[in-house]
Amino acid sequence: MIFNKLDKSITEKQYDLCIIGAGPSGITLALDISRRSSLNVLLLEAGDLNFSDSSQDFYKPHHFECKSNNELVKVADKYLSRSRMRTMGGTSTIWDGWVKPLDSIDFKGHWPISKKDLDPYYSAVSPLLGLSDRKPFDKIFNTTSLRDTTLEITKRANFKEVFLKDLAKEKGIDLYLNTAITNCSITKKTITSIDVTNGSSTYQIKAKHIVLAAGGIESTRILLNWNKEHNISNTHLGKYFHEHLIIPLEKSLYLYNDFTKKPLLSESFKRGFSLKEKIMIDNQLLNFSIYIDNLSSNQKEAPTNKAKEGKLYDALLFLEMTPVQESSITLSKLKDKFSLNKINLNWKISENDFSSIPFILKHVDTHLNLNKIGKLRQELPSDYNRSILWEAHHHMGTTRLGKSKKEGVVDKNLRSFDYENLYILSSSVYPYSGYSNPTMTLLALSIRLSNYLRNLS
Ligand SMILES: Cc1cc2nc3c(=O)[nH]c(=O)nc-3n(C[C@H](O)[C@H](O)[C@H](O)COP(=O)(O)OP(=O)(O)OC[C@H]3O[C@@H](n4cnc5c(N)ncnc54)[C@H](O)[C@@H]3O)c2cc1C
Repeated sequence: MIFNKLDKSITEKQYDLCIIGAGPSGITLALDISRRSSLNVLLLEAGDLNFSDSSQDFYKPHHFECKSNNELVKVADKYLSRSRMRTMGGTSTIWDGWVKPLDSIDFKGHWPISKKDLDPYYSAVSPLLGLSDRKPFDKIFNTTSLRDTTLEITKRANFKEVFLKDLAKEKGIDLYLNTAITNCSITKKTITSIDVTNGSSTYQIKAKHIVLAAGGIESTRILLNWNKEHNISNTHLGKYFHEHLIIPLEKSLYLYNDFTKKPLLSESFKRGFSLKEKIMIDNQLLNFSIYIDNLSSNQKEAPTNKAKEGKLYDALLFLEMTPVQESSITLSKLKDKFSLNKINLNWKISENDFSSIPFILKHVDTHLNLNKIGKLRQELPSDYNRSILWEAHHHMGTTRLGKSKKEGVVDKNLRSFDYENLYILSSSVYPYSGYSNPTMTLLALSIRLSNYLRNLS
């Protein structure tokens, strides 16, 4: 059932599970658990059914800056207030719907689980995104030294539009809109109740398990506020903030005519490639993918080589970023209208991330040549300026997974090391994030968490 506003009725029912946030992760978990068990789910959404500036205002940080090597990097002014949406459906109401699992190498040595552990859950996510009924595409870039990294574009991107009716029908789910969580009460390490508010009234609700699914930055902010209130410390909370680096490579990718006959441009996928894992490891390269964006508008700038004619494409380089400990979210002294401290985000980009780009381009060009596929312009476009960032809006790292509290904020089942009945379901748990857009992995983690919680109860 959907409640448009919060009232006392919320305190009348016993809930097994309370999920905070109705974005892609909260919605996926709520529906999966309710459909496959008799557990009662309370889904809380701070925003309204439609976007409003007054709700979005809560996302304004107190302070934000991005630096690399002590130099300021310019990021869009509204980066934090517009790179996540505080409304029903969360940020899926504006995202691009580009989806792809992480690569095996993204997990190795960094995550307490492997890609194999997540594979069955990636498969379970495909039908939700409408990918399973598509004809599989050929991995045309798989050669002895290249690997195909094509991503898919879902047409079921807006989770509010796709799943609102399902949520309303589901008897096991109560969804409260315009209902924000603020504080919590704890006894020893267990959360005994959480405070929910609509701005004028506040109620305490109880649930056996609590899942924070409020987005990569907001989940961290809530936890930082709770830790402050209850005098709990965790060395890793708020640290290692990272994103994905996107570098536009206009008029850069020249593909020979044999290759351009293959399906390269489509509305349902973005064709991409990288180097084979061994080459990346041997050359200590960050994980990356080159995506073909468009046929370039100016074919005259193609390299002249009559023997090997082809076409010139605009491309995008998606690059892994190194999580840096000092890149952090901390609490500001300034508070929002619900008396929760706002955040300061001091985002640090490792100098090595930027300086690795020319090496990557050189390796790619060498292997495109070796495979007789084409060429990549090695120098960066003249208008490329590393002091201006194409941000991806992927917020990762600040509640990282680890084997123990010495390594992270949550364990391999997303359970907090500090609160026994609290789980964090957000891309903030990724300790390392490769170059793949984060949401497909988040949805896989949602279904995995649903399995885990059903088995507990
Ligand atoms: C412009 C743009 C393009 C993007 N493109 C892609 C893409 O192509 N591919 C991809 O994988 N990712 C993309 N992303 C990122 C993607 O949108 C996020 O990874 C995804 O939405 C995260 O889902 P989530 O459920 O964790 O958080 P969100 O979608 O942010 O949802 C969190 C929910 O929690 C609610 N909430 C917050 N605080 C509280 C509170 N105190 N109480 C109750 N509820 C609360 C919010 O209102 C919101 O509904 C893009 C993002 C942007 C901004």
